[in-house]
Amino acid sequence: MTMSRPDLTPRIIDRQARISVVVPVFNEEEAAPHFCKTVAPYLDALGLDWEIVFSNDGSSDDTLSVLVALRAGDPRIKIVDLTRNFGKEAAMTAGLDHATGDMIVVMDVDLQDPPNLLAPMVERWREGYDVVCGRRRTREDDTALKRLTAGQFYRFFNRISHSKIPPDVGDFRLMDRRVVEAMKLLPERVRFMKGLFAWVGFPTAVIDYERPSREHGATKFNYWRLWNFALDGITSFSTVPLRVWTYFGMFIAFISFIYGAFIIAQTLIMGVEVPGYASSLTAVLFLGGVQLVGLGIIGEYLGRVYSEVKRRPVYLASRLHGLDEQDPRHEHH
Ligand code: UDP
Ligand code: MG
Repeated sequence: MTMSRPDLTPRIIDRQARISVVVPVFNEEEAAPHFCKTVAPYLDALGLDWEIVFSNDGSSDDTLSVLVALRAGDPRIKIVDLTRNFGKEAAMTAGLDHATGDMIVVMDVDLQDPPNLLAPMVERWREGYDVVCGRRRTREDDTALKRLTAGQFYRFFNRISHSKIPPDVGDFRLMDRRVVEAMKLLPERVRFMKGLFAWVGFPTAVIDYERPSREHGATKFNYWRLWNFALDGITSFSTVPLRVWTYFGMFIAFISFIYGAFIIAQTLIMGVEVPGYASSLTAVLFLGGVQLVGLGIIGEYLGRVYSEVKRRPVYLASRLHGLDEQDPRHEHH
């Protein structure tokens, strides 16, 4: 994130501003009540109208009934209930689509995104920033392997993508309504949110924080899921892995030409040389392997093109509790 200080106009709001907190939840029956109890006082202290929009991502435990009970106790708690597990990115998209606030914050339910950052985030928003990101100062809670792979991923991603993702900035962020409207204009089905957030831009402030450990339940992301997530991110934001093959092919063709000329010259001068089994086999196997990798990468992109052209919705909501029944994402078709 380049932090050239933008020309900011402080916001003057002549009516009660409204803040929405979007919370994706997947099997979080323990964490959800704890989240509401902890975050509500921080929201009250802001002196704004507020709502919490839970996006229930096809939980198979009692999360939904727990959320419905929470809503019975406080109608400012709202629920988008998805028909199955669509993944965190889709669940966040559903929440952003239905949230009604002038500013919208995305938070995890496990309290790893500290609610005491809400006040300084809103403060930045009043100064005129449209996006306020939380940046983890340490990742001590993550395993060494997770830190290493995450670090390498961001480095690789930022090298080959035009939209740069700042390292250690997660989904925890406050966005002005117009940023969320801009997000809704992006039609892709593979929603790598960190990349989309970066793509829309807008004046952005960053607040550093220490990321605490998860308070209840366990992480929902294993390495296989993270690997696929990384592939989604890279293929959504860069075509370098495709283009690289052109240059590689040109390089191989060039080498082959030189080598061919050398063999012809050698045959002319020294006569027919029979041995050459090892070199031919090596060349065949090497090129075969390389071509398969190239095909595989084309396949990764093709598969994603396929899922884009099918134009299936990013998620399906079976029921909305306390939110507008109309699903904005279905209007385009
Ligand atoms: N989550 C979700 N759908 C999923 C996986 C996770 O909505 O398929 C939610 C989860 O309930 C939590 C947030 O995404 O609120 C972050 O998940 P988690 O804490 O497991 O991720 P981590 O902090 O380990 O990266
Ligand atoms: Mg977590």
